[in-house]
Formats: sequence, structure tokens, C-alpha cells
Amino acid sequence: MNSYKITTIGWWGAYPSAGEATSGYLLQSHGLNVLVDCGSGVLSGLQNYINLQNLDAVVLSHYHWDHIADIGCLQYAARILMDLGHLNKPLEIYGHAEDDNFSGLSYLQYSRGCAIDPQSALKLGAFKLSFCRNDHPDTCFSMRIEQANRCLAYIADTAWTDDLVGIAQNADLLLCESSLYDEYRGMIPGHLTAGEAGEIATCAGAKHLVLTHLPHFGNHEQLLEQAGKKFAGKIELATTGKVWLL
Ligand SMILES: [Zn+2]
Ligand SMILES: [Zn+2]
Repeated sequence: MNSYKITTIGWWGAYPSAGEATSGYLLQSHGLNVLVDCGSGVLSGLQNYINLQNLDAVVLSHYHWDHIADIGCLQYAARILMDLGHLNKPLEIYGHAEDDNFSGLSYLQYSRGCAIDPQSALKLGAFKLSFCRNDHPDTCFSMRIEQANRCLAYIADTAWTDDLVGIAQNADLLLCESSLYDEYRGMIPGHLTAGEAGEIATCAGAKHLVLTHLPHFGNHEQLLEQAGKKFAGKIELATTGKVWLL
């Protein structure tokens, strides 16, 4: 039986299209529900899959709006649910503590900011998370999230770094930001092209590549083609509600 389920809540970069969401992924294993990133539209979409009182923790890659826009309303939800007696402990929100945004993760007795230590692994129930520092205008981390012998690598906003290959090593699923078409390589700092996502997948020996954090222009099928020139394995685009069982 598969015991590691990943559901795409949102996958747009920058802002969501109508009825959709920016970055947000629900990870479930053995009754534990962890949300990775909480962008615009994620709070609404998440409730298609779980009741909010069953959310155990949130882990944030960084503090750009397309990854955190719904945190404030999620904190209000925690407040209402606690006041109604449906939630009995503060919601844990994990993020880096390298700038002032960290303090915003704590909200009275309703949510508690928990600092990520990028040097050490984080255990959340059956999940083991490890982090690598991205190359992005503000501090951002990619993460490797293992459960038993299964592994998801999530590469959040970043330019190419060799560490990305390490964090994605032999991943069963590599969820990789692909903000750019190859022709924009080197022109927009802090983001990957589709071809670079494919290169990371190949160098890391990943089994399955999913392109996410997609742009609002061009034809996304071209991203698949460009990644496919660098990676011979399975590649797909993230879509709302898409589920993978590892
Ligand atoms: Zn960003
Ligand atoms: Zn972003």
C-alpha cells in the first residue's frame, strides 16, 4: 500500500489564474497532513482535500507572496477553529529565521513559527525533511522530503546551483520550478529554465520530473519539450489536483 501521497494544490508562479492557486502541495502519510508552501488560492483549494483542523504543519520555502499569500488567512482559520473547539493546539508553521518575516509565522496562541535549521534534518511524523540553500533574490530553500525509502525533492525558486543535484539525488519524484523557457536562460536571475530542470533531473538520477511554478506566457508544452531534451525519464506539468503516490 502506498503511504506517501502528494497532491498539487497550486502550481502557478507569481499569481494564480482564475480559480487556481500559486505554490502549494499537500503531503500525506500515516494520517499526517503537511502543506508545503501556501500561496495565493491555496487555502481555498486545500479544503477540497482535507478539513483545515486536520492540517498538522506548514513548511515554507521562502517568503515571497506566491508562496505565503494565504498564511494570514490560514492563521485566522486556526483562530476560528480553536475558538470553536475544533483545534486544540497552535498550527506549526516552519520557515527560515534569517529575516523579519519569520516573526509573522506566530500569531497569538493560534499559530507558532518554527525555525528551519538548514544544517539539520527536520522530523515531522513519518517525514524527514532536509534542506538546501537556493540562489534567489531572498533567502529560499529547496527540500528533500523522505518517508521510509521514498523521496520527494521539491526545488523552489532558484537559479542553478550544484547543491540542487544533491537534494534531488535519486528522487522518486522531483517537483522542480520551471519559471522560464530556455531562451530566457541567464536573463532573469533566481529562476530555472525548463532545460535546467531537465538537467538537474538527469544529474540527480531522478525517476520522474514534474515542472511547476509555471509562467503566465508562452505554451507550457514547450517547457515539456525543452526539459525532455535534457532528461529521458518521465516528465509532466503540474496540474491542479494532480496526485502522486510514492
Ligand atoms: Zn521567490
Ligand atoms: Zn515563486
